[in-house]
Amino acid sequence: MTINDQDQKRFTGQYIAGQWRSGRAGTTLQDRNPYNQELLTEIAEASRADLDDAYRSAAAVQRDWERQLPSARAAVMYRAVEVIDRRHAEIVEWLISESGSTRMKAEMEWASVRAGTLAAATMPARVAGRILPIDIAGKESRVYRRPLGVVGVISPWNFPMHLSNRTIAPALAIGNGVVVKPAEDTPVTGGLLLASIYEEAGLPPGLLNVTVGEVSEIGDAFTLHPIPKFISFTGSTRVGRHIGELAMTGPTLKRVGLELGGNAPCVVLDDADLDRAVSGAIVGRFLHQGQICMSSNRIIIENGLYDRFVEAFVERARKLKVGDPNEFDTVIGPLINEKQFKAALGHLETARAAGIRQMLGEEPSGLVLPPQVFADVSHESALAQSELFSPIAPLIRAKDDADALRMANATEFGLSSAVFTEDAARGLRFAQGIEAGMTHINDISPNDDPNTMFGGEKNSGLGRFNSDWIIEELTSDHWISVQHEPRVYPF
Ligand code: NAD
Repeated sequence: MTINDQDQKRFTGQYIAGQWRSGRAGTTLQDRNPYNQELLTEIAEASRADLDDAYRSAAAVQRDWERQLPSARAAVMYRAVEVIDRRHAEIVEWLISESGSTRMKAEMEWASVRAGTLAAATMPARVAGRILPIDIAGKESRVYRRPLGVVGVISPWNFPMHLSNRTIAPALAIGNGVVVKPAEDTPVTGGLLLASIYEEAGLPPGLLNVTVGEVSEIGDAFTLHPIPKFISFTGSTRVGRHIGELAMTGPTLKRVGLELGGNAPCVVLDDADLDRAVSGAIVGRFLHQGQICMSSNRIIIENGLYDRFVEAFVERARKLKVGDPNEFDTVIGPLINEKQFKAALGHLETARAAGIRQMLGEEPSGLVLPPQVFADVSHESALAQSELFSPIAPLIRAKDDADALRMANATEFGLSSAVFTEDAARGLRFAQGIEAGMTHINDISPNDDPNTMFGGEKNSGLGRFNSDWIIEELTSDHWISVQHEPRVYPF
């Protein structure tokens, strides 16, 4: 591994108040490579007192940071982009070795982190208030827009660096302080590595803090702490609901952004270009072993194209290179951990027990599960209704557009979706009928762009990321009126 030695030494604890220090919980987290189980680092975990220090240190310096000139905050973000460029190889290595990313997925994630940080550099100059007309003589009505204060970020392990940074970068750029709790499987890429990048970029100490610890110690306390005004949570719907409840029922009410699970449909209408649709479904389903909230979890194909699609899809899936994520052309690397691996095997057993026709499926090796393809899957089956988060592809036959749309929407989730057709008007009509936050016509369902909104409907969550949408989430309006002339009151 070419990981910078200095960083490896630093990544053994917490980053609090600008210090690299040991956590005081008395427990240790072993951070291992999911492909070969190599021990990457051991981290002394955070206690509740460490978490309290982290929130207090962010609060202590946030007001000064908020008062800095927009160009000074932007300059830190531009320097962070330079650091991300310079440390490209090291970042990619960490993503491969810690999160089980294939090299191509790690490169994509590096590019997303870079693009998100660059976009955030424009945000200090975009936080604008308003002066509004008002029907009271002599009054001026202003709405000031200010950063919230301190923001808490809880991220998952699948795109750890990007999913932490998509809140960290805009939050810092517009004047907030931040505390991050990365997932247990990705403490470095989900937090400590980002802290070292912003530190090198010259971010004032204390503004960004990373607490790595057990959920039983710092989990609920992270949301219940009185300092954060907003909890940005990305993860499962089950945990997201719990975070939402704590934020609403705890002693201090706070806003939440909940980016949760998905069950994205990839719909292939009968006039679709077969090659394009197969490529889109293959990449949409198998990118990062299917461990993406926007993965094409259900592939719904209209009758007219169904048989040809199934044949071509199975052939393409059979040829995907499986194994060592470090190799340049590997498409399917390891699942993140034993728990996720067992869950995938459970889905396979249930599907086989239900007699669903399996078209492809080699045996796993270690945590690497080769592509598994099932055809003629009933939309009501557990296979179609579960978020599979693994390289398992259910192919489902639809009678016509109406049937395809009915199925596309028949899920509790509504994050992303895709539809393939050669008729743009038909695709648009179809897309407008989908109950989801995002729909891509003739492209893969996993798509994220720093200049466009990102977010879901139904049980896929609440709130929006990126650009103006995240500025809105991470700021608050303050109405300040000035009564220039004496006002006539009724008594
Ligand atoms: P998870 O919900 O198990 O964990 C997510 C994070 O929450 C982790 O950091 C975990 O330690 C933390 N956590 C768990 N309990 C907590 C508590 N009580 N208090 C505070 N933090 C707590 O999810 P996961 O398995 O890491 O990720 C997979 C899930 O994430 C999938 O459902 C996927 O669809 C979803 N996801 C959604 C998006 C999106 O943008 N909508 C993106 C990626 C992943």
